[in-house]
Amino acid sequence: MEIEKLVRPNILRLVPYSSARSEFKGHAGVFLDANENPFDNGLNRYPDPLQQKLKTEISMLKNIPTSRIFLGNGSDEAIDLLVRIFCIPTQDHIIILPPTYGMYQVAADIADVEIRQIPLTSDFQPDVEAILNAAGPQSKILFLCSPNNPTGNAFHPQILRQLAKAFPGIVVVDEAYIDFSEDPGALPLLPEFPNLVVLQTFSKAWGLAAIRLGMAFAGEPIIHLLNKVKAPYNLNLLSQEKALQAIRDPGHKQQMVQVLLEERKRLANALSAFPFVRQIFPSDANFLLVRVDAPGKLYDFLTRHGIIVRNRSSVLLCEGCLRISIGTPDENAVLLQALNIFTSAGQP
Ligand SMILES: *Cc1c(COP(=O)(O)O)cnc(C)c1O
Repeated sequence: MEIEKLVRPNILRLVPYSSARSEFKGHAGVFLDANENPFDNGLNRYPDPLQQKLKTEISMLKNIPTSRIFLGNGSDEAIDLLVRIFCIPTQDHIIILPPTYGMYQVAADIADVEIRQIPLTSDFQPDVEAILNAAGPQSKILFLCSPNNPTGNAFHPQILRQLAKAFPGIVVVDEAYIDFSEDPGALPLLPEFPNLVVLQTFSKAWGLAAIRLGMAFAGEPIIHLLNKVKAPYNLNLLSQEKALQAIRDPGHKQQMVQVLLEERKRLANALSAFPFVRQIFPSDANFLLVRVDAPGKLYDFLTRHGIIVRNRSSVLLCEGCLRISIGTPDENAVLLQALNIFTSAGQP
């Protein structure tokens, strides 16, 4: 597949902003090119626009060359850039598979790009036939979220492969929750499919939602386009340094993930004992989708007790469901205690 044929013509023609620092290759000690304040406080210089140091570490962590990595201000930046790179407003469309993450729709709405919705099957897997039937030359991006938010399940690897192979546009696999899954994910498919983009993030398993750091892995042509369109200094230095620190201590992340996986099992077990719990869906993520009697009533009760969960009960295929993030052991205990009170109060 030729990626260039999918790109908006104005983006192909675009001459990106070029900073003097990125044009200069070599060694210099005196920088009088960028109108920065010269007095050193550790933050007075513009950061590396291509974040080479951080990419080198991520490259070793993921075993993917730096030329196949894009870093953004959260995965949300990559989602937004992909829509703007490939979709001509009011002409092209994206395909999403509800129920899913809300940002794909928001990014398309902002860009004035149409959205085609192909619901997941009743077991929360992509409906391959319906997707391929709906796809045409104007279908520029297919967004797959695996493990999926809010259903929690990962998509079957052979379905990801099938779609990457047969979809006529870009296939984005959003793996925000992949660290909580035993699934190998889509990274191993990258060398085979030039139209594939895999998104991961520091916002969930790494515990760094506040630094806003998302990763996109793809073939070099797509990475080149993302770099061309992004804001020149899209990642601030403090975030880059914080991420480097975290990557150099991978045991800490592993330990947090371990605890969350144990808590996921413990919480699912405990929840299943409540009379108002109808169904707990299997989760490859750090949350549980739980079908209950009277979800609105339970949601309000929890809110009154200072516990905020996500009410997904009006979302397609999630009727009656609340989405509950896995907290610390203490937080989960507080939740279970509140649910005991809810039960003994004779609710609903
Ligand atoms: C939380 C989440 C993200 C994270 O987005 P960031 O911008 O990296 O914080 C991405 N995709 C999905 C599906 C999510 O649930």
